[in-house]
Amino acid sequence: MLQLYAPLSFLGVIYREIRQSTTDLERMFTILEEHQEIKDPPQAPALQVGRGEVRFENVRFGYGADRVILDGLDFTVPAGETVAIVGPSGAGKSTLARLLFRFYAPQSGRILIDGQDIAQVTQASVRRAIGIVPQDTVLFNDTIGYNIAYGKPGASAAEVEAVARAAHIHDFIVSTPQGYETQVGERGLKLSGGEKQRVAIARALLKNPPILIFDEATSQLDSHNEKAIQAEIRAASRDRTAIVIAHRLSTVVDAHQILVVESGRVVERGTHAQLLQARGLYARMWNLQQDRAAHPEASAAMA
Ligand code: ADP
Ligand code: MG
Repeated sequence: MLQLYAPLSFLGVIYREIRQSTTDLERMFTILEEHQEIKDPPQAPALQVGRGEVRFENVRFGYGADRVILDGLDFTVPAGETVAIVGPSGAGKSTLARLLFRFYAPQSGRILIDGQDIAQVTQASVRRAIGIVPQDTVLFNDTIGYNIAYGKPGASAAEVEAVARAAHIHDFIVSTPQGYETQVGERGLKLSGGEKQRVAIARALLKNPPILIFDEATSQLDSHNEKAIQAEIRAASRDRTAIVIAHRLSTVVDAHQILVVESGRVVERGTHAQLLQARGLYARMWNLQQDRAAHPEASAAMA
């Protein structure tokens, strides 16, 4: 009985494997289709950027047809202000950043920069206006200096060093075998998550665009480095339009406005004080994080 059972279950495993890989293949094709380059409309003009007001108008979006990720997202970031976006993981925060950078287009609704629908202007001009520090930075297999200078082709060594200092990565760079000429990436020096984040921040600072997006840009730094770099992010965001997607709420208490996003919708909005008073999701998240900060050993035991 046992002898018969074993091969049958083995077949079952193979069968499941085959079925699984078929679904994976299907998924792969969907992903490939989704990643088709977004095309500019014929004769699209370039975006005319003024002070960089960003507006999401009832934006609906899903990566596939089967699942809605952004479900009528509606908000405005006034020119020159900082809006923080917080919410549970999977809420659609990174997705909205990708839409603003035009990696994807909304299924309905519009995204406007200074009153212009970003779908009606050239993709290149939209990307020139925005500096993004993504959640997961992928570095080029090139020198660390190149990886920063990429933010501004033709930047001088002095400019690169200035932003590297601001992002607190200069000292690390000069400690590597060839300094700014050290190769990084798969075929070179492997950087930690926090080091990569700092390279991405330096790159965005060098680009010096009217609109900045930080997507959990300091999530992989220790709290000492995080504080120092948060100060730089605040300085860079001053008089500029900034969207700061945050994991740790303590980093966004000063934002002009905080949007709480859940399941692809803005469920609460206001300043830190207003949201605490509202005693909603934000207040609950805040209290939870305060407890954790006060009793790290308890949360470590719980994790
Ligand atoms: P957040 O940044 O708030 O944690 P995301 O915007 O990354 O959330 O993701 C929102 C939802 O979209 C999640 O359920 C996630 O699994 C899904 N998702 C993210 N990226 C993709 C993708 N490239 N293809 C399909 N689904 C995705
Ligand atoms: Mg995210």
